[in-house]
Amino acid sequence: MAKKDNVRAGQVVGDVDAFVSAPVHSPVSGTVKDIALRSHPVLGRTMAVIIDTDPADATEKSPCAGQFGADFDHSAYSVEQICEAVRQAGIVGMGGAGFPTRVKIEPNPRLPKRTLIINGCECEPFITCDYRIMLEWTYQIIAGVKLACKASGCSRVVIGIEDNKPAAIETMCKALEACRGCEHIEVAPVQTKYPQGGERQLINSLLKRTVPTGGIPPMIGICVLNVATCAAIAEAVVTGAPLTHRVVTVTGEAISKPGNYYVPVGMQVADLIDHAGGLTETAAKVILGGPMMGLAIADLSTPITKTSGAVTVLTKEAIYKAKYEKRQTPCIRCGRCLDVCPENLNPTKIAHAVKNNLLDVAADYYMSACIECGCCSYVCPANIELTGYIKTGKLLVARAKQKVPE
Ligand code: SF4
Ligand code: SF4
Repeated sequence: MAKKDNVRAGQVVGDVDAFVSAPVHSPVSGTVKDIALRSHPVLGRTMAVIIDTDPADATEKSPCAGQFGADFDHSAYSVEQICEAVRQAGIVGMGGAGFPTRVKIEPNPRLPKRTLIINGCECEPFITCDYRIMLEWTYQIIAGVKLACKASGCSRVVIGIEDNKPAAIETMCKALEACRGCEHIEVAPVQTKYPQGGERQLINSLLKRTVPTGGIPPMIGICVLNVATCAAIAEAVVTGAPLTHRVVTVTGEAISKPGNYYVPVGMQVADLIDHAGGLTETAAKVILGGPMMGLAIADLSTPITKTSGAVTVLTKEAIYKAKYEKRQTPCIRCGRCLDVCPENLNPTKIAHAVKNNLLDVAADYYMSACIECGCCSYVCPANIELTGYIKTGKLLVARAKQKVPE
């Protein structure tokens, strides 16, 4: 790929041979304007292919949910076909982690999978993109579940949905009743609480099992996929279409037309905000993600990625009130941060170690096991930005290992 190259919608624009990787496809047709460093929501900056769209080819991609019904027959596809289609389509976990889906689902004799958990819990408050697709793309999701179940070799499927979404639970149950060969798939309502959408937390809620610290779900025979990822699997296997679009929740009090939007991956946050009616005068902070785990972005040319579930815009009032009220004071050793941590970590010890540049001590306190949920910062009466310290510590460790650019 080079400057001035023509690209077609769906064409691969980035790929590597590494086993744990996924290709990236252009969502639009056009001409390569540049290949340069651009802002990235997680990495800070990374190389990007910038494409000028072709005005003569303004065909907009639409969701393909209409192609799926209760009669979908997954037996027409082999395990190899499913895994290869998922790899070629560049599918990664769309709930936030972004781990390549092919690696998750393909058979692994050393770590055989028995139970497939489908994550229908929103990862954060404010976000509703997964809820909407459970209502509107129900049969497509079920098709993806059947295909993923076949590829992974699981004999049991549990779809976990939070109990504040009765319409999604009912829709999914009715659709499963209408489908043949879904006896091994059950819908399990789970308590609405944050962070229920974390895969380790969901496994514990549904199966009462614990993934070892520093381990992964396949170590206990479990594979976890998000509902949007399942929809992408169905689309890739049945239509051959790569993952170039996703549903994003645009939310917060400072956005004119909040809602769920089906958008191309790579679209600039600024363009999405414009499409959603623009910012109100009270807008003060744009967050890529939700209010708990999302990252505030200074550059609105930051792109939507395959894992971007939301854009949250907070008001000046909310920010200034929080700033005024959240003046940091010394730790009072209350232990609330320990009580609330879903990973049973000691956030205050880790944060203290990072603050004093003792990254090896932070590592001894299992800093890498932190899921960055933000609960410890949220409950701290001393307003200590514990999660911020821990995120910084993890970034410093990654930089020391040269995993992310300076
Ligand atoms: S952000 Fe805090 S509460 Fe959440 S997992 Fe990390 S240390 Fe625990
Ligand atoms: S919650 Fe805050 S004040 Fe309480 S022990 Fe943790 S860091 Fe200290």
